[in-house]
Amino acid sequence: MPTVTSALRECHRLRVHLRELQAEIDRGPRVRKGREEALEAERKAHLDYHDHIRKLKVQQREQEGTLKETETRLAKLELQLNETVGHKEYTAKQHEIEHAKTKKGELEDAILATIMELEEKTAGIPAAEKRWADAQAEFSQFQIEAAERLERMTQDQAASKAELARIEGTLAPDVKSTYDSIVKAKGPDALSGAKNRVCLACRIGMTEGRFEEVRGGSFLICSSCGRMLYPVES
Ligand SMILES: [Zn+2]
Repeated sequence: MPTVTSALRECHRLRVHLRELQAEIDRGPRVRKGREEALEAERKAHLDYHDHIRKLKVQQREQEGTLKETETRLAKLELQLNETVGHKEYTAKQHEIEHAKTKKGELEDAILATIMELEEKTAGIPAAEKRWADAQAEFSQFQIEAAERLERMTQDQAASKAELARIEGTLAPDVKSTYDSIVKAKGPDALSGAKNRVCLACRIGMTEGRFEEVRGGSFLICSSCGRMLYPVES
């Protein structure tokens, strides 16, 4: 038969443990949501990467189309220049040609820039694929571990509840009714260790006599905070 105080010590440990377990279980969905959001961000980054490459290819085609048009127009202008007779018209045509040449140069630069960016992005595809594959693998691993963890915690919870009920069953009826009403009000904070004549929860001291009673295994309630006491060896 355990003393009241040794039973209380164990009840306190189990009740605190059960509270922590429940908090951990309750955190699960939020943790999962965070991981899902991180995976979703990776999915989007992966899609965006390929979308960017697609857009660069379209851009390159468009720029090359415009370049071809400009070259055709330039050739036409140069033919027209040969047939132009008036000085004013000749100068105007030369201006048009200069303008078209400038545009051609700008387009060639732009195409080169697009090609270089496209090459860089294409070279980065394996890294982007690896990043996405890693993100998916990590999420799968997280799911497996989270399920295992939840299973472990659920089992621990059931075992701890059963053990708590068993120990609470050893309390004498008068102690048990007081115990129940304090636990109902305070939960795991219904109990506290006492060490060196001090309640460890509220840090208020007690008389040597009361402390000795607790050490002797008697059922005592802290006169300051109302917690049921058990001795903690110094
Ligand atoms: Zn206290």
